[in-house]
Amino acid sequence: MDRFRVLVIDDEIDFVETMVKRLKDRGLEADGATSGPEGLDLLDNKDVDVVVLDVKMPKMSGIEVLREIKKKKPLTEVIMLTGHGSVEAGIQGLQLGAYNYVMKPVPFSELLTLIVQAYERKLIEQERDS
Ligand SMILES: [Mg+2]
Repeated sequence: MDRFRVLVIDDEIDFVETMVKRLKDRGLEADGATSGPEGLDLLDNKDVDVVVLDVKMPKMSGIEVLREIKKKKPLTEVIMLTGHGSVEAGIQGLQLGAYNYVMKPVPFSELLTLIVQAYERKLIEQERDS
C-alpha cells in the first residue's frame, strides 16, 4: 500500500491524538487539527489524500469545512464523523462531495478500511483527471 497522507480534524484533542498515533503505527502519514481553520491551513501546506472530519465543532462546522476543502482541493476525499444527533449532517456531506460518513464511536479498524477505500477512489479520480 502507498504511504498516503491522512488529516484528522476533530475538536476532541484526545481523539485526534489517538487517531494520528494509530494511523502512523500503520505506516501512514498523519496529521491532526482540532479546528476547521487549523485543518484548512494544514491543507494549504501539505498534500493530503484523505480527511477525517468531525461534523460537530465550535467556530466552524464540519459542513463548512467540507465546503472549503472541496473548493480548495476537490480531489481530496473526506470522511465525515457524525454523532447520534448529526446523521443529517453526514447525509448533507455526501451531497457536498464527501466520500462517506460514519457514526462515532467507530472502531478503528472500520475507520481505517474506509480511509483506504477513500484513498483508492482518489487515485481513480486523479487518473481520470489527468
Ligand atoms: Mg466534535
